[in-house]
Amino acid sequence: MMRLSAIGCWGGSPRVGGACAGYLVECGRDAVLLDCGPGVCATLPRVRALTDVDEVVVSHAHYDHVSDAGALMYARLVHRQLGMTTRDLTFHAPAACGRDELARLAMPGASRVIGVEAGDEVRVGGLRVATRLTSHPVPCLALRVSDETGATLGYTADGALTDDLASFLADVDVLVTECSLYPGHDGRAMGHMSCDDVIELQRASRPAHLLLTHLPIYGDPAEMLSRVRGAVTGATVDIACPAASHGISDIGPRAAAREVRGIVTMDVAAAGAPA
Ligand SMILES: [Zn+2]
Repeated sequence: MMRLSAIGCWGGSPRVGGACAGYLVECGRDAVLLDCGPGVCATLPRVRALTDVDEVVVSHAHYDHVSDAGALMYARLVHRQLGMTTRDLTFHAPAACGRDELARLAMPGASRVIGVEAGDEVRVGGLRVATRLTSHPVPCLALRVSDETGATLGYTADGALTDDLASFLADVDVLVTECSLYPGHDGRAMGHMSCDDVIELQRASRPAHLLLTHLPIYGDPAEMLSRVRGAVTGATVDIACPAASHGISDIGPRAAAREVRGIVTMDVAAAGAPA
C-alpha cells in the first residue's frame, strides 16, 4: 500500500498559505515526491522532513510544477553540510525538457538528474513509475506509479483529455487529476482539463478514487467538487486542498481522503485490499 499526501493543489500560483503541484508518495521506507511547485518546500515538512525525500519525479518544466526544486536543492546542500544526510537528491525529469533545463536540477553536493524518455518505465526506490506524454504546450509526462502489492496511483500532470491519457490511466486505484478550468472553458485548446473533461476521464478510465487538483486560483473550486461528485458513479471524489479553506465543512460520505495537519492524504491500496 502507498500513502499519498497532496502537498499542493493550485495551478499557476499558490493561494495564501498553499502550494502548487507536489504529491508525496510514501511506501515503506520510500518517500517520493511527484513535482515540486512553489510552496512545496514550506509545506512538505508538515508531513515529512525534507531530508527524508531523496527522489523527485518532475512531470514537466513549467514553474508551477518545478520552481521549488531549486529551493529543495539548496536545502539539501545545507542539510548535507550539517551532516543531517549523506545522500544526493535525485530528480527524474523528462529528457525532452532539453539539456539546459535538466542541468538546472543538478548541483554538486546536493542533487543529480536523470532524464526520462516518454513511454519509459523507471524504478524509483521500490516503486515502478510508467510514463506517457500528455497533450500540453511543453513536454509533460503523466505518471502511473505502482508498488509491489499492485496498488496503483495515476497522476495526469498537466494535459488535455485524450483517449491515450485515459487508456494509460485505466483502472488505477487513485487518480490525481488536474482540474484546471470551470465548466464552459475549452480545456483542449489550452492543454488542460476542465471539470467536465475530468468527468469524461473518470468514465473512461474508471479509477476507484478521484482526487481533483491543479485548481484555479479564482472562483470557488468547491463548485467543481460538487459538479464532479454529482456526475460520477462508482468512484469517490475528493479535492486536494484542505476542506476548511474552501467552506467544505463536510467532505461527505463518498470521501476517501482525510485531512492531516492541513494536508489532504489518502491510502492507495490495490482493489480488494483493505485500505
Ligand atoms: Zn503545465
